[in-house]
Amino acid sequence: MAIAIRLSNVAKSFGEVKAVDGVNLEIADGEFFAMLGPSGSGKTTVLRLIAGFELPDSGLIEIDGVDVSQTPPFNRDVNTVFQDYALFPHMTVLENVEYGLKVKKVVKEERIERARKALARVKLEGYEARKPGQLSGGQRQRVALARALVNEPKVLLLDEPLGALDLKLRHEMQIELKELQRDIGITFIFVTHDQEEALTMADRIAVFNQGNIVQMGSARDIYEEPNSEFVAGFVGISNLLHREGRVISIRPEKISLGSEGDRTSLGQVASVMFLGALTKIDVAIGSDTLTLLSKNDGLEKFPSTGEQVEVSWNSKYEFQVG
Ligand code: ATP
Repeated sequence: MAIAIRLSNVAKSFGEVKAVDGVNLEIADGEFFAMLGPSGSGKTTVLRLIAGFELPDSGLIEIDGVDVSQTPPFNRDVNTVFQDYALFPHMTVLENVEYGLKVKKVVKEERIERARKALARVKLEGYEARKPGQLSGGQRQRVALARALVNEPKVLLLDEPLGALDLKLRHEMQIELKELQRDIGITFIFVTHDQEEALTMADRIAVFNQGNIVQMGSARDIYEEPNSEFVAGFVGISNLLHREGRVISIRPEKISLGSEGDRTSLGQVASVMFLGALTKIDVAIGSDTLTLLSKNDGLEKFPSTGEQVEVSWNSKYEFQVG
């Protein structure tokens, strides 16, 4: 598959701070790619380097096989959707979406046709004459998307695109964004610190820590086979067991009460928390605490805090992370 974006040994410092410390990355054409990491890990700087808002101190950035390391943003075939949407408040929805084409001197008729098409893509037909102030957060987010899509960029860059939305709308938009990307088939690269968002939407995820990528793979790879204590803890609930100098990660849904698996341990229930569909049970085993997630299927009988219990899991779900 063709490579849309390639970063080779890219580094960027701000004064003393090494924001990006020698990143290597290849993103395929049509991929939905997430950059995930804690605050300050460098993911936004990588996005801005791809967009051209920052220039690298060293290393190479290629778009479609062409070196753009020193190319200004407007000459790169990418568009960015910002978290705060950056819409023009005095312009209508249609004018906002048209604006980029106007700057590029596209004739009026074509401009309007393309803007209407972009608005239809994000399900905003009928909203053309409104001003941004007359829209909900989710609708403003769609206008921002339409405004980027109207340019038909090769790559769409999204900086925490759903960060300003409430949880329910966020979940709806995650599914919509994924469908939209599948539909139009262009490369989407998005930055998030929300692991659930990355797991839900991305074909592939790069986990950032301290200016570098510490693991890259499909959502399943990263969740099921974390390569370090950091990744195990950052993506999903961290369940670590310290044994004979090794650190082992086991995901909470792989552990059950009783002795069904080929590994068993005795522990004491530290807390039981009802979460709706699931119950979360923390069990202290020596100096470690394991978290179990159990379905509230009406069949399970849950223990009480302080009770001695046996927990078990299958050794194939253990991953050594340290
Ligand atoms: P967040 O989720 O908080 O946006 P991030 O992972 O996207 O974090 P970056 O924004 O890439 O992190 O920042 C990486 C490091 O570089 C941080 O220590 C940050 O303070 C620093 N940094 C980023 N931009 C600048 C700048 N323009 N000037 C000075 N320091 C900067």
